[in-house]
Amino acid sequence: MLRDCLQPARCPSCQAFQPAYEAVASYFHAEPKVQPEVWVARVDCAEETQLCNRFGIKKYPTMKYGHASDFEEGSEQGLAEISGKLTAEEVIKWLSKRLHTQYAYGSNKVIPHTVQNSSDASSASSNPDTAHQASATDIESATRLAWKYMMDSGDLLKGLDARQAFMDFVELMSASHPIPSCKEGSRSILQQAPKLWPAEELSGPLPELQQLPICGPGETKEEWDGCKGTKPGRRGYTCGLWLLLHSLAAESLPEETGGTFWMTAVKGFIQHFFQCSACANHFIEMTEQAEAESVRSRRDAVLWMWKAHNQVNGRLEKQEEEGKDGDPAFPKQQWPPSKLCALCHLPNSQDTDLKWNEDEIYRFLLKFYSEASIAKNTTDSFDAQAAVKQLYDIGRKSTQGSHALKIWLILLGLAAAALFACIRTQKAPNRKSRNTL
Ligand SMILES: Cc1cc2nc3c(=O)[nH]c(=O)nc-3n(C[C@H](O)[C@H](O)[C@H](O)COP(=O)(O)OP(=O)(O)OC[C@H]3O[C@@H](n4cnc5c(N)ncnc54)[C@H](O)[C@@H]3O)c2cc1C
Repeated sequence: MLRDCLQPARCPSCQAFQPAYEAVASYFHAEPKVQPEVWVARVDCAEETQLCNRFGIKKYPTMKYGHASDFEEGSEQGLAEISGKLTAEEVIKWLSKRLHTQYAYGSNKVIPHTVQNSSDASSASSNPDTAHQASATDIESATRLAWKYMMDSGDLLKGLDARQAFMDFVELMSASHPIPSCKEGSRSILQQAPKLWPAEELSGPLPELQQLPICGPGETKEEWDGCKGTKPGRRGYTCGLWLLLHSLAAESLPEETGGTFWMTAVKGFIQHFFQCSACANHFIEMTEQAEAESVRSRRDAVLWMWKAHNQVNGRLEKQEEEGKDGDPAFPKQQWPPSKLCALCHLPNSQDTDLKWNEDEIYRFLLKFYSEASIAKNTTDSFDAQAAVKQLYDIGRKSTQGSHALKIWLILLGLAAAALFACIRTQKAPNRKSRNTL
């Protein structure tokens, strides 16, 4: 199929582009992989007409670049595009710019920019710089611990305000927790709470409530994945708690107004049950500012929490630089870094003056913290050559039905990807005039 497509008489531009395509694909697929990784695949638009129409391909060859989520959504929105008589150097330079990186590519040889060693590769799914979704293990551990700490709060559980804060937080988890067993556990607790913690009971819940499991059977223990610190006592619970609160925002319901209740419940939980009182005080100060008070929708909540977390990161980054506290292996940073979400950073963004694209941030955070991504908990380490072949094969079948198209896009969604399109003019005579570049 590709050979036909690249025959000079049928598509001279595609033929001319073939060496550049091969060079770019070899550069990104060669082991050890350059970082950030890019997945490269090609499609014959004469065969894959539906697919190419969907991505708005108008010139051949065309290269589209985007984060996995852009391809998953299956429209051309959010994808960057170049076409023309391109050399491999030009393509890689273009990608370097989009990804705010400097791929080291020589005209005669391939020089990996940074090398990922095997131990890094095996932990790619849990490294906060490279993971593409929050870890279910971290969120479940944080939920179990949050429940234990709440139930062990003693005097803090006394009074009407504490009961209301407890009820609100459990209600939020019962609607929006990304892990089904924790959602189910929260629902069950919510149903039994009026009996086990009657409204008039000002001295706290009955012991039976404390025995109920928040995430179903299983131990409450400190088991961390992406939140694992280099020493016990570092990271862990507070890291997992951030992930839990972000994911509750990403799943807040209803979409148009659920942000208001999310804010009330999170504020109540932090105020009453977060043991780090200095942290809680700072956080509550943030929730009392005008921007927090105007949170209405899911989008408002997700973006507000992202900004609040970055504000904390900024404050702690300075403290950590002065040698106070922190885990040196995980320095604080404004998040997400461009290697995790290139499109979240505006093209004129610089390390010293970050400029964000909030639409992209929102899309990225929804993916990162959504129930669907967390449940999948996929790893990024898989065979590049096999994946590209599979993409190509499934891409071929995509014209047979939208289901196949979906699978193809989801597969592409495992990592950032570049999509090359070329055309076999004989099969698509109506497009012949577009083939001259
Ligand atoms: C509500 C709250 C307030 C806190 N306040 C303080 C404080 O005032 N002083 C103090 O010393 N410690 C505070 N902490 C603890 C501190 O923020 C960190 O949790 C701790 O230092 C461990 O840091 P970490 O490296 O694991 O990353 P964390 O900051 O815990 O982040 C966990 C993960 O969240 C993701 N992430 C990072 N930034 C963002 C973002 N902007 N949006 C979405 N996701 C993001 C990343 O994947 C990261 O690995 C607070 C914790 C919480 C939950």
